[in-house]
Amino acid sequence: MSFYVTTPIYYVNGEPHLGHAYSTIAADILARHMRQRGEDVFFLTGTDEHGEPVAQEAEREGVTPRELGDRYAPRFKEMAAKIEASNDFFIRTTDQGHMDRVQEIVQRVHDNGHVYEGVYEGWYCPRCADFKTESELGPGNTCPIHQIPLTRETETNWFFRLSSFQEDLERLYAKRPDFVQPDFRRNEALAFIRQGLQDVSLSRPRLKWGVPVPWDTDQVIYVWFDALLNYVTALAYAREGEDLTGRFWPAFHILGKDILKFHAVYWPAFLIAAGIEVPKGMFIHGYLLMEGHKMSKSLGNVLDPDEVIAKFGADALRYYCFREVSFGQDGQISPAGFEARYETELANEFGNLANRALAMTERYRDGQAPEAELDPAIAADFEGAPDRVRELLDEARLTQALEEIWKLVRRLNQYVEETRPWDLAKEDGEADSLDQVLYTLAEGLRVTTLLLHPYMPETTGRLLDALGEPSRELAELGSQEGGRRIERIPPLFPKLEAEPAA
Ligand SMILES: [Zn+2]
Repeated sequence: MSFYVTTPIYYVNGEPHLGHAYSTIAADILARHMRQRGEDVFFLTGTDEHGEPVAQEAEREGVTPRELGDRYAPRFKEMAAKIEASNDFFIRTTDQGHMDRVQEIVQRVHDNGHVYEGVYEGWYCPRCADFKTESELGPGNTCPIHQIPLTRETETNWFFRLSSFQEDLERLYAKRPDFVQPDFRRNEALAFIRQGLQDVSLSRPRLKWGVPVPWDTDQVIYVWFDALLNYVTALAYAREGEDLTGRFWPAFHILGKDILKFHAVYWPAFLIAAGIEVPKGMFIHGYLLMEGHKMSKSLGNVLDPDEVIAKFGADALRYYCFREVSFGQDGQISPAGFEARYETELANEFGNLANRALAMTERYRDGQAPEAELDPAIAADFEGAPDRVRELLDEARLTQALEEIWKLVRRLNQYVEETRPWDLAKEDGEADSLDQVLYTLAEGLRVTTLLLHPYMPETTGRLLDALGEPSRELAELGSQEGGRRIERIPPLFPKLEAEPAA
């Protein structure tokens, strides 16, 4: 089976921030998890470099749009590397390979009879690069997203006959109830479709920065179609001399709620018009909000991803984003909240569990996992856990899956407290019991750490090496026998240093 996951491509009109990182980490967790399951995975991210938002910013900065792209695209590439994204390709919409294929597909939509020339009049937001319908307008004819006054614009351009796809889309949504997740986003998209679809501009006449319309090179293709098509075009040229389309398409898209309409309505309609299979599905996430939070002792009052990564590592940031806010919903994050979870969950619960398991095996069994039977109590509690996580991640429910995994972490900590291996070690005649506890603990920790691996690849990789587990595939409890070498390693999540006294 193949699995193709994408992030939105990011505008190169500013620095990457936590919102971009959030989408990318989500896609990365899914990509890594699917690789663990032995799926044939392709993970795509990249930059959207055409259109008005980029042209305007370039003008403000006195550079060409191309120069702006060349400045910021590497910043987004660096961000991906910094947050440990394992993307297989990084697309830039200024790639010739992309632009050629955009023209081909748009020409096909035209030749299939879904494009006509017309006059458009409406409220236009240059920062969204989108016309707003009357029902979308904010008070005083403003953009509800950017809160800027909009201008009424009239232009002659090429239109995509979106209105003629209303029934196709309603059928698609009826046939595939999970096409858009979570459900409340699906309902939002469906309500938009049912209120009646209007045709949309396929080109912009006044803008020079973009992919030329193949049959009318005075116009450029509207940036949204250019951008959406990246998901398809990348597969055709990401690997030299090889077209990956048949192997990986259709994709599963991760995106934020602000671009729902383009992905859930325009995009499948445009694909149908081009004779291309619609996406496998999409998951729409909410926003991480930082409002009215308390100061924290080490991070001040803003959760700056670069600072968090420098001080605590990318894994801690990855964990926190999906632990603190239920993926799909909006939610508050804060430096204080980050520190609390770092200390109580990563350092105390998981880090300490790992440390105890490794240290006790070293102290009592000379660093060798004992040969023993699993403790049936733990075996029962772990029963089916990897399957539950798989099912949740099949639906991109990243927070619920993490919650399932964390139950295992807590269960193992409880197990250590219940069995008190340090007492067993002191008593004669308890050697078998101690073997069983240490073996069960090593196995439980191995299985749990494998499940956590997509969320925190670097620290879990170190721990799996220490546990003598060379594979990263998901495993059932008891699938590894005792006898392997276990090593002690420094704490995975070192405790915060106390602030020096003033
Ligand atoms: Zn706007």
